[in-house]
Amino acid sequence: MKIIYHFNKCVGCGLCVSTCPNIWQWGPGRKARLRNPNQVHDQWEEGEYPRQGGLIVVTSNCPVGAIKLEES
Ligand code: SF4
Repeated sequence: MKIIYHFNKCVGCGLCVSTCPNIWQWGPGRKARLRNPNQVHDQWEEGEYPRQGGLIVVTSNCPVGAIKLEES
């Protein structure tokens, strides 16, 4: 599963980090960041991660829609 994450949108609610700490961690400015992303850009990053139930929940509940999933 590919995660495309626009960290400039993050408001630091903590949902993704607390739910999937194996995928997410805190970065500068209390914005969540992906652990070991495959690509990092100015305002977004992306990475490939195993599908897991918690990941789907996080994606549908990010309050600002910063986390997008794509089948890979
Ligand atoms: S769920 Fe969304 S707003 Fe909350 S910490 Fe994660 S990326 Fe940021």
